[in-house]
Amino acid sequence: MKVEDMNNVLYIDLTKKGIRTESRRDLFDKYLGGSGVGIKLLEEECPPGIDPLGASNPIILAVGPLTALYPSASKTVAMFKSPLTGNLGESHCGGRSAMAIKLAGYGAIVITGSSDLPLYLAIEGDEVKFRDASSVWNMDAVTVGRVLREVEPGAGVRTIIRTGTAGPKMVRYACAVSETYRHFGRLGLGAVMGSKKLKALVITADKSVEIAKQKRKEYKRAYDVIQNIVVKTDAMEKYHDLGTPGKIYNLNKLGGMACKNLESARAPEEIAREFSGEQIAERYLSRRISCAHCPVGCVHLAALRELYEPGYYFKTVTVPYDNETIYSLGFMLGMQKAEDYLLLNDRVDFVGMDAISTGVILAWATEAYAKGLITKQHTDGLEFNWGDVQVYLEAINKIVEMPNEFYQNLAKGVEHASSVYGGQDYALAFGGNEMPEYHTGLACYMNNLTGARHSHLDSAGYDLDQKLMGKDFTIEGVVSALLKEEQWRQIPSSLVVCFFARKVFTPEIVIQALDAIGLEGWTTEKLEDLGREIHRAKMNFKFREGYDLAKLRIPKRIFEVPTPHGYLKEADLRKAIDIYGEMIGV
Ligand code: SF4
Repeated sequence: MKVEDMNNVLYIDLTKKGIRTESRRDLFDKYLGGSGVGIKLLEEECPPGIDPLGASNPIILAVGPLTALYPSASKTVAMFKSPLTGNLGESHCGGRSAMAIKLAGYGAIVITGSSDLPLYLAIEGDEVKFRDASSVWNMDAVTVGRVLREVEPGAGVRTIIRTGTAGPKMVRYACAVSETYRHFGRLGLGAVMGSKKLKALVITADKSVEIAKQKRKEYKRAYDVIQNIVVKTDAMEKYHDLGTPGKIYNLNKLGGMACKNLESARAPEEIAREFSGEQIAERYLSRRISCAHCPVGCVHLAALRELYEPGYYFKTVTVPYDNETIYSLGFMLGMQKAEDYLLLNDRVDFVGMDAISTGVILAWATEAYAKGLITKQHTDGLEFNWGDVQVYLEAINKIVEMPNEFYQNLAKGVEHASSVYGGQDYALAFGGNEMPEYHTGLACYMNNLTGARHSHLDSAGYDLDQKLMGKDFTIEGVVSALLKEEQWRQIPSSLVVCFFARKVFTPEIVIQALDAIGLEGWTTEKLEDLGREIHRAKMNFKFREGYDLAKLRIPKRIFEVPTPHGYLKEADLRKAIDIYGEMIGV
């Protein structure tokens, strides 16, 4: 397969059980791939105002020009209308997903319509099979992966993207799981799959990419430059050593870690030590794994021994852990022991729900329960208390099973649940998406409120807050820096490279890497222009679907607890939103 043949889009219609492949050079030449091509396909395929859980919502999976050709270009971008926020759904996942899509011969896959019976898709290069998924429909994310591994060919060069039990129940923050330990975590891709009666995609690669003869030396040079930065400098060392949990202890020390539904932003010293990357690694780290074609190995797996029957009957479960899940299922829920956090993380992965959303929702429920807004009648007999792992484990099951209206409401997210039961002042969602880890200052909340995905990865406001410690800054300066960062980030997410490697892929290296595979003519200026254009397209989609800066709800809680910069003022945050609106011209 030549580089220029990687612009094919596979269109799959689940209603008619039909497929077609189309070359979309028009899109890939202009928008690279990933987020850039994804948002354009979303514009084409997603009619305005549709029900995100209706048949008209498309699922778009897009990879990029660097996928399977350069180290750490290992991610797939999923785009859809989010059932959680009602606007842009964008989620990134590694594992083998990107490699398999690309080497099956596609730059993107567009899935439309909805099946009448549960099915999974087996995509083997040019062939697509619609397979009956009735027998695996209600399986958890781990077991269904095991079953599909057995029945489908292609071990080692395939990806298995599936939902757990939460997807088929359309929990609005259900995720899709790839290769057991990687996730399209945020914004409800699993729920959209569930609404289409699509349990899984098994995509098997059957091709390889050929670099033009006259480009091979150049390609090797560009490859070596990237590989050497990734493995021989300290650029990505921290991700390999302790992984993202390496920053937990210091963030807490700084006073930027949201604890117990942001009752405070600093946990006691013994808790910070218990949940530090160092402690968890010493006690539980069993191995590190990598996404396909990434030498970093940042995915840290804990081995947890569980008693499954009285006597000496143990099983060992392997749980992936990172800073965000330690925050949401550890600190936010007042856990005292790392082992309890790992049990919760394991359960959330098993049912296939976004761990950040789940933790924030349960934290809100715990506070609402303590304040009497909800009672045992609502909770189906559960007593929510900080740190009570057994109750939270049961609550996770009940969110999926939905035995009553209360759990049906929890399954719609904290924005919705708090609109029914009250407690909006401490319902920690921004733009409808549950809050990520950081309580570091103005920049992190601007990121959460105005970022296209309401994800901390949109513009890394948490990072800017920390860089601004002890420095003078203006609100205009913060907004401008965040916007610039988010616009540039559209380039790595269109290429598609892992955000952990974003500092490796400087404009110069990106241009060199593209040039070496025959995609010539890119300049820093052209890339920056494109970043702005893609960002604008995403925001246009959001505005089209009802996102309104003037109507953003801001939970009062974030003004009641000091950040490392002191108390954040609502007036400053509102002013920052106004400035942002002026900067993007709305
Ligand atoms: S740095 Fe980690 S998450 Fe990123 S591609 Fe490599 S292994 Fe995957």
